[in-house]
Amino acid sequence: MKNGHGTTNTSDAIDFAVIGAGIAGASTAWRLAQAGHSVALLDRDEPASAAGSSHGSARILRYGYADPLYARLLAEAETGWAELETAHGSPLITRTGCVDAGEGHDTTRLAEVFTETGVEHTLFSPEEAASRFGDRFAFGTEALWHPRAGVLDAQSTVHAMVRAAVEHSATLLTGWEVASVTRRGAGYLITAADGRALSVRHVVVAAGGWLPRLLGGLGLPTSFTRALPAFEVRQESAFHFPYREEPAEPWPTSIHMIEGMIVYTLPGGRDAGYRGQKVAEFNGGPVIGDASRQDGRITSEHRQRIVDYVGTFLPGLVPEPYAETTCLFTNTPDEDFVIDTHESITVVSACSGHGGKFAPLLGTLAAGLATGERDVPARFRPSR
Ligand SMILES: Cc1cc2nc3c(=O)[nH]c(=O)nc-3n(C[C@H](O)[C@H](O)[C@H](O)COP(=O)(O)OP(=O)(O)OC[C@H]3O[C@@H](n4cnc5c(N)ncnc54)[C@H](O)[C@@H]3O)c2cc1C
Repeated sequence: MKNGHGTTNTSDAIDFAVIGAGIAGASTAWRLAQAGHSVALLDRDEPASAAGSSHGSARILRYGYADPLYARLLAEAETGWAELETAHGSPLITRTGCVDAGEGHDTTRLAEVFTETGVEHTLFSPEEAASRFGDRFAFGTEALWHPRAGVLDAQSTVHAMVRAAVEHSATLLTGWEVASVTRRGAGYLITAADGRALSVRHVVVAAGGWLPRLLGGLGLPTSFTRALPAFEVRQESAFHFPYREEPAEPWPTSIHMIEGMIVYTLPGGRDAGYRGQKVAEFNGGPVIGDASRQDGRITSEHRQRIVDYVGTFLPGLVPEPYAETTCLFTNTPDEDFVIDTHESITVVSACSGHGGKFAPLLGTLAAGLATGERDVPARFRPSR
């Protein structure tokens, strides 16, 4: 396995350098290497960095997209998940089902979409929902249940994709912080913060919350960068609350929309010692501008808001968090992903708090665009 800190300078240009070994970059490196290209996957830290967006054992994989584009992409991602789980040798997704509810949630419309797209579901009346889920979720409204939803293990997914990339001869360079990308002949010279350098033909930038700062230093024309959406980086918080009773089977995930607040919950898995539900407010954290400004702090007001929420709506949990964490959202105004390219630089930003479930497909799309073998949905290419 080619792996390490990359101490050699090389003048032999490799085909692709992928900056960032989170979900997006690992997936892209995997797909490029699988297609036979020489690939270096660079990360300032390590795959699924604790400072990025792809760490930890739990992200929701649900099918609740009213937007047909994402519903179609998710269906396409299914084959990639099956392929990756086979390569990994064990499941990366635990199917728990998902409960969607709340005054602010159009569950009726979502149920129609599920009918149109063939997703198995049941729309429960408030009374039926109370009878079925009331010991865990006391939402008091209709509840839409779809059993195929589940929880994906983000960190294991990244590691599985990196391993698959390396098995196809990609080189993983950890502790390799890209400081500059400059044109050199038909390709680029990438320089690390400590002076190491790599010559490459094509650069894929999948730097998550560090993207806003990196963008200006890539030598991209303003006609391209100005077309990109404003990226908003948020420092989000998540809390683990213990189950009152050890569940016989994993709790479902949930999405609850109330009073301008979206709260999601999911079994925390490994991160939570398997004894609690992870609870978080969607876009509840501060906007920090760029990943380098994160401080990992959680305010007592924010913690109390979530404790109050759990006390009111989640009777199956003890309303005292036993663990908490922060993580970065990189949002676009319309929550669309960006997978765009100019000459031999491809930019991938697939977050807005919902990119994880597309993990194996993100690389297929980005690699296809970078090699010119496949286009991506027009909405992901604002420069065009
Ligand atoms: C709290 C939270 C909850 C979420 N919940 C869900 C969910 O329920 N369902 C869902 O589908 N999705 C969810 N997501 C979204 C999903 O996790 C993200 O879409 C995904 O992790 C984005 O990965 P990324 O590769 O873009 O970024 P990252 O994982 O941050 O990867 C970027 C990498 O780039 C590296 N890097 C940055 N700058 C440099 C540099 N100069 N040189 C070298 N390397 C560099 C970093 O070290 C990092 O490893 C959630 C995200 C968060 C944070």
